Amino acid sequence: KTVTKPPPTPSPLRNSKFFQSNMRILVSGGAGFIGSHLVDKLMENEKNEVIVADNYFTGSKDNLRKWIGHPRFELIRHDVTEPLLIEVDQIYHLACPASPIFYKYNPVKTIKTNVIGTLNMLGLAKRVGARILLTSTSEVYGDPLEHPQTETYWGNVNPIGVRSCYDEGKRVAETLMYDYHRQHGLEIRIARIFNTYGPRMNIDDGRVVSNFIAQALRGEPLTVQAPGTQTRSFCYVSDMVDGLIRLMEGNHIGPINLGNPGEFTMMELAETVKELINPDVKITTVENTPDDPRQRKPNITRAKELLGWEPKIKLRGGLPLMEEDFRQRLGIQKK
Ligand code: NAD
Ligand code: UDP
Ligand code: UDP
Repeated sequence: KTVTKPPPTPSPLRNSKFFQSNMRILVSGGAGFIGSHLVDKLMENEKNEVIVADNYFTGSKDNLRKWIGHPRFELIRHDVTEPLLIEVDQIYHLACPASPIFYKYNPVKTIKTNVIGTLNMLGLAKRVGARILLTSTSEVYGDPLEHPQTETYWGNVNPIGVRSCYDEGKRVAETLMYDYHRQHGLEIRIARIFNTYGPRMNIDDGRVVSNFIAQALRGEPLTVQAPGTQTRSFCYVSDMVDGLIRLMEGNHIGPINLGNPGEFTMMELAETVKELINPDVKITTVENTPDDPRQRKPNITRAKELLGWEPKIKLRGGLPLMEEDFRQRLGIQKK
């Protein structure tokens, strides 16, 4: 049975002339790669006030440098596995390491972040009547037997593997979202994000696009993990942020796939990076990690139909934008 209760009345000050913002938005994980780009976009709207809660495990204050001290912005050092008591209208819940080397570093903590962290964000959303969006992942499809992946596919996931803390963690997070929706009438949104890339990715976080670009710039061999025929589909971060905001603002709870359907093998990606960034580098094949999904490509029909969204930036357009950012951070000039 669905229990709906009226949203709590906001403090009287919210409507007074002393308080201008119409929407107070919490971004958990807002100091990270996608989160900080999302914050940039949300801050463009003068009606928004943005609060970031982040424990800086994989994110950094540097990503939010331009907003620190801004009257509509607030940054809290906070771990989402602990309760958080604040008043907000919307919650973008991103907090969770996304790169395999970081989420495998402390797998128990990754599960706590996904399960207890999401539970706390839902408890907060319930208490204040906020709408909450979860950034789930294409990893919920595991090593998919359906290709491309549609939202109705239930996935092929190893429950006891080294990736399970992340993919099973996100699957439970989705379940929690739906149960709070059904049981407590919460307004939820679930995005299933496919591989996203762009400026501000951690340079050494082990993800393939950041690895190849950093290697190409440093003149080191590009490390294609065997067999190299495995595929991924890469979405530029500005397209992703646009999709997340449309999902939050729209009327559909999801899950909705957000990603770029352009599919590449890892060998093709290495060749493209080599061609665009440094034709002199070598490409080598190295050992892979367990349970690496062999193929991944989103079916984005739902996002197109329900959100009017599709990515605009192709891989060949996005890579040079990321190269520019990596050159600056690595201090390597273009010859
Ligand atoms: P990221 O690692 O750059 O950002 C994650 C942020 O969450 C970091 O700032 C980190 O410090 C913070 N964080 C981690 N654990 C926390 C905790 N316990 N409490 C508070 N903060 C915590 O990763 P990203 O690429 O920006 O990913 C953001 C979200 O999108 C994640 O939920 C991730 O699962 C999801 N996602 C990303 C991709 C991708 O390709 N980047 C793909 C699928 C899903
Ligand atoms: N919670 C939170 N902030 C709030 C309200 C709740 O962090 O503003 C946490 C709370 O500590 C709890 C979780 O969210 O661990 C789930 O809250 P809920 O009220 O749904 O469940 P209960 O507290 O009854 O277990
Ligand atoms: N990969 C690679 N070389 C690297 C890092 C990753 O070939 O230096 C491959 C990896 O085996 C996987 C793909 O790139 O098939 C994407 O890996 P990533 O860690 O970026 O993301 P995810 O596996 O989460 O999609």
